[in-house]
Amino acid sequence: MEISEIQVDGYEKVVRCRDQASGLHALIAVHDTTLGPALGGMRMLPYVSEDEALFDVLRLSKGMTYKSAVAETGLGGGKSVILGDPRKAKSPGLFQAMGRFVQSLDGLYITAEDMNIGIPDLELVRKETRWVTGLAREAGSSGNPSPYTADGCLVGMRATARVAFKCPDLKGKRVVMQGVGAVGSRLAILLEKEGAHVVICDINEKRVADLCAEYGFESVRDESHLDVPCDIYSPCARGATLNDETVPRLQCKVVAGCANNQLLEPRHAAALMARGIVYAPDFVINAGGIINVACELLPGGYDEKVSLAKIERIAESLRRVYEISAQRSIPTSEAANMLAEERLAAGRARKRSKR
Ligand code: NAD
Repeated sequence: MEISEIQVDGYEKVVRCRDQASGLHALIAVHDTTLGPALGGMRMLPYVSEDEALFDVLRLSKGMTYKSAVAETGLGGGKSVILGDPRKAKSPGLFQAMGRFVQSLDGLYITAEDMNIGIPDLELVRKETRWVTGLAREAGSSGNPSPYTADGCLVGMRATARVAFKCPDLKGKRVVMQGVGAVGSRLAILLEKEGAHVVICDINEKRVADLCAEYGFESVRDESHLDVPCDIYSPCARGATLNDETVPRLQCKVVAGCANNQLLEPRHAAALMARGIVYAPDFVINAGGIINVACELLPGGYDEKVSLAKIERIAESLRRVYEISAQRSIPTSEAANMLAEERLAAGRARKRSKR
């Protein structure tokens, strides 16, 4: 196994691993550990080149630093990527080699699930390193993060409604949701319980039909969901859905959903602001899952009650984001970045004063 370092400005450590025996080619990026060890998921994709994988791991690990800083998880930001086709290249040897690679950083990076990586894969990684989170609840871990992400989104929607509608109550609010997968379906059910009127769409038509039959949601075809007037639009499927084509079409007062990287470009947050739409920055409102995973690492071990109390604090983070945005007349996404930078700067100052 060959591990080599890649120098990247602004990143604490970026490492490459090549292992001939298992075919592993992977990268780990540790962006910043000012606030704690760098936690972030492991993903596997058939990247066309190492440069493409490097671009992804750098962007994602920095995002994790900001997300954890705002959510106050006591963690820094990192990420890992395995280059390869998840349908063909997975093997026990590959994941055990990945485990040894994670172990080589000795706790500086802590891994978890991400795209195309499941619990069985992480269990193989776990054979070689203890720096793995998000395994099954029965194994003493924090389990599937999705329900906690949904819980956090609900908390965040209430906090955003307080700003947009001057009242946190979601009763009677019409919410159009794109994507009712692991997080979206649970969020839809929670919203319905709150008395909201939920309209769902998904490219998985059977899922939509099953959920409508069971919970009485209204549905709309994915192609026309943006034409439905609503109070809250909730993107819960994929990234980049807030763009030049969609923003002018939105018929809502609030955008608040769990999807990662909702803005195609930062300027689309300004476009939302210009239209008077309150945008709940994705990495703030969807932090419930990472908050839950981070609770595994607390000295007393995982406790759901502690996790749920911390998830409630997403409301306070968003309140602060909206305050900064209003005071400085800047888009909420910029305000969220500022809040993250503030918390990192405070962490650096604390570290310096201890020296
Ligand atoms: P998922 O794969 O379980 O669900 C995604 C759903 O979106 C699926 O039902 C899929 O059919 C649907 N979908 C995909 N493309 C679509 C399209 N073009 N139009 C309509 N529907 C489409 O994923 P998830 O875990 O629910 O995550 C949803 C989003 O939230 C992702 O962007 C994910 O990165 C983000 N997120 C998830 C978590 C978590 O804890 N799972 C945490 C933070 C962020």
